[in-house]
Amino acid sequence: MFFMRETPEAGETLTAVVAPAPKATPIGEDLDWRLRARCRGVDPIVFHPAEADPGDEAKAICALCPVKDACLDHALAAREKDGVWGGMTAIERRRLIRRMRRSA
Ligand code: SF4
Repeated sequence: MFFMRETPEAGETLTAVVAPAPKATPIGEDLDWRLRARCRGVDPIVFHPAEADPGDEAKAICALCPVKDACLDHALAAREKDGVWGGMTAIERRRLIRRMRRSA
């Protein structure tokens, strides 16, 4: 999930529209994939569905995203706790991590 509007709104400074850095970026991770994120310019609230919401609107955007795999890899590596990343909600990512641990 990557938030960047193409142009600042009235009264905003440029720094206000640049995507926030991920909370925990694994050392050495190349984050250039964010520049091709399909969610750029999309209202961030779409990627933060309520807990009972399956996040279908965000997932539909992610489904056609050219950097979906890199996004999911980042979210898993950084242990992103919230939002839809790589087409998966936080709950789905936790389940995936558990499955990966069991099969390791
Ligand atoms: S996979 Fe989804 S959340 Fe990740 S960069 Fe693409 S559109 Fe954004």
